[in-house]
Amino acid sequence: EVVVVGSCMTDLVSLTTRLPKAGETVLGHKFFVGFGGKGANQCVQSARLGAKTSLICKVGKDSFGNDYVDNLKKNGISTAFVGQTTDAATGTASIIVNSEGQNVIVIVPGANLFLNSEDLKRASDVICKAKVVVCQLEITPAVSLEALKMARASGVRTLFNPAPAHPDLDPQFYTYSDIFCCNETEAEILTGIPVGNLEDAEKVGRMLLERGCKLVIVTLGAEGCMMISGDETIPKHVPAGKVRAVDTTGAGDSFVGALAFYLAYYPQLSMEEMIRKSNCVASVSVQAPGTQSSYPYRKDLPQDLF
Ligand code: ADP
Repeated sequence: EVVVVGSCMTDLVSLTTRLPKAGETVLGHKFFVGFGGKGANQCVQSARLGAKTSLICKVGKDSFGNDYVDNLKKNGISTAFVGQTTDAATGTASIIVNSEGQNVIVIVPGANLFLNSEDLKRASDVICKAKVVVCQLEITPAVSLEALKMARASGVRTLFNPAPAHPDLDPQFYTYSDIFCCNETEAEILTGIPVGNLEDAEKVGRMLLERGCKLVIVTLGAEGCMMISGDETIPKHVPAGKVRAVDTTGAGDSFVGALAFYLAYYPQLSMEEMIRKSNCVASVSVQAPGTQSSYPYRKDLPQDLF
């Protein structure tokens, strides 16, 4: 089983010709509500590939929270450890996008910050019996770290995605990550080194590896990934296929969710092969608009991925 400990966010998206200035009201031409949050996104992608999944998260006891629970169930995700709180509203991302595709975003984590230690303890059975536990940073960091520690203590593989990244990440996140998977922006925030090419990716990957994780993956958008491992002297560039990208939002989460699936269900594959397959899944997600709405199902993918 894949267990994700992380966030749920309701995306409230308005499309306008231009972004409003302070104090200004502009007329939009389209509005839609989407399901997002890095934790849920990753869990949804894993589930759509066929993984048995549990999401450990917290939403509000409100209509967005109820809708989110329904969404998780529709994706076949176990909601046994989805809490609903009255202390805060379901997390939201209010997003305004102009006709050039530029956006402004306000994120209110809300209920996500109320996921706590007790919630993890209640879920300790599923965490400790998982094949892989996946965490990010859209919940209280101490809670993510505790989940990684619980997994490690039971010999469960840990996959950590330091997103959104902070320069002062607790160093324990490195030591408790079997696989540390970040994008170029996150890698730059964590190391101070901008990633402009494969050499930079290798360099930052090595720096992160030296902080104590077993394997670092730096995702590179259309370029695929750089994999830096402690066991091998040569870092590996794993390219992504050439596709026509229409919307890359949530591609990183599709990648992480896919990787969790392969770690749990195809442990015999080499890491390079798992990354290659995860690149394929994520590159399908960039060819359709939206976040979860763009994530492919097993039946829609080439069967040699399974
Ligand atoms: P994030 O969404 O966090 O910014 P990336 O942009 O690095 O993450 O993308 C994550 C993964 O999605 C990449 O490693 C790759 O597999 C896939 N991907 C992203 N953009 C493209 C693209 N334009 N073409 C093909 N694959 C892509």
